[in-house]
Amino acid sequence: MAAPTTEKNPLQVAVVGAGPSGFYAAEALIKSDCPVQVDVIERLPAPYGLVRNGVAPDHPKLKQAIGVYDKIAHNPEFRYIGNVTVGRDLDAEELRQTHHAVIYTCGAETDRKLGIPGEHLPGSHTATELVGWYNGHPDYRDRVFDFSHETAVIIGQGNVAADAARILAKSVDELKNTDIAEHALAALAESRIREIHVVGRRGPAQVKFTSKELREFLAIENCSARVAAEELALNPQSQSEIEDKAGAMGKKNYAILRQFADADAGVAKPRTCRFTFLKSPLRLEGGARLARVVLEHNRLEGEPFRQSARATGATSALACGLLFRSIGYRGVPIAGVPFDDRSGTFPNRAGRVTEGKDGGVVPGVYTAGWIKRGPSGIIGTNRACAVETVKALLEDAAALRAHAKPHAKPGAARLLEILDERGVEHVDYARWKEIDAAEIARGALKQKPREKFTRVGEMLAATH
Ligand code: NAP
Repeated sequence: MAAPTTEKNPLQVAVVGAGPSGFYAAEALIKSDCPVQVDVIERLPAPYGLVRNGVAPDHPKLKQAIGVYDKIAHNPEFRYIGNVTVGRDLDAEELRQTHHAVIYTCGAETDRKLGIPGEHLPGSHTATELVGWYNGHPDYRDRVFDFSHETAVIIGQGNVAADAARILAKSVDELKNTDIAEHALAALAESRIREIHVVGRRGPAQVKFTSKELREFLAIENCSARVAAEELALNPQSQSEIEDKAGAMGKKNYAILRQFADADAGVAKPRTCRFTFLKSPLRLEGGARLARVVLEHNRLEGEPFRQSARATGATSALACGLLFRSIGYRGVPIAGVPFDDRSGTFPNRAGRVTEGKDGGVVPGVYTAGWIKRGPSGIIGTNRACAVETVKALLEDAAALRAHAKPHAKPGAARLLEILDERGVEHVDYARWKEIDAAEIARGALKQKPREKFTRVGEMLAATH
């Protein structure tokens, strides 16, 4: 018989990834009746995942979630182990040995591919690179974007495309008091971009923006938002979509796009952001670098809410020196954890990771967030997602303890020993708070909420 879970003998749970889902999973575990110890492992010294590295610098309200995560981190049952990469510094099997359960909340770290000729020409980038770069993510710190061109194209019409377009559209004055990384602000200050085209493969009723994000384009001081009125024609299925209750967001978006079409062209602003529809990139052309994108024109086919883009055979070319592919994220595998290559997620049932054709559950291995369900939803969506996973884990707790050999897992005590044996420098939450304070102090000198350290070495050097 397994020893019962007690305060002295808690259920040891490792959480891999300190983004929103990792924190919400930790919160749900700590709030449960089961005595737990939660060790949250993060590959960067800095926690908070996409809230720090994905949310746009001009969206400070969305970053208020960090206050919630900070409270969670101050629970005695919570331990932060930053600057540790699972799959490199530790492997999946070691975590299963040290902990009763492991929850993977490692997000979707790479991008979907267009799979078209010229996709990798210099001048063609993913929106992920741009977002990571302006947010000071160490992986993207040294990316170089050539802003000397007058026209930039963004492929995709979701909120990431909206963020990318807005940051390219805004003036330095509109960005300088945000937490945008200083290298990005300096490069954007030299930008000669005048036209930004945001290209969707489906129609104006099918854009994936949330209306709040789309409406923001009306308020950019440095940029006019435009749509050619003839591009707003709807087929009967799209018309019924926006009239349907389920199409409320589409209806709001369509009304905003109409405002872009009606906007007074007489008010000249330095930049213009043009939204265009029913066009898919066919190929990117250029010699040594990107010169134009060839777009295939589409029509929509299918039932309302299930319409897909079909090529009409017509094409047009758009000259551009810079292009960002913003067509969605994808998870990356971790050795020793089952991975579904088609969806780019860890296969699971309600958060229990499964393997093989018969979908058998892998005991003690769970997942939450984008790596569980794919890259969808807003920050808060991850709370319900993590709660579902933790519910499954707690249902399994007795069995996990019964099968654990030995019944009391060593948890972080052994994990930290392994890291020390390997010479891996790890960062606890108190040390992160020192880095945090140093960033805030740097920012205060420039009337910014913080000036982020953009290299891991700088973060580590900010403390002793
Ligand atoms: P998304 O919302 O799924 O949008 C992806 C866009 O790419 C869609 O317009 C999609 O068109 C298009 N696309 C996909 N494959 C394509 C292809 N092969 N060719 C051309 N276009 C293609 O993804 P996202 O913008 O990366 O955002 C991810 C999630 O994060 C979303 O849930 C988003 O709301 C969220 N997010 C929220 C905020 C915020 O709240 N402020 C900010 C950023 C991100 P189809 O519709 O035709 O597939």
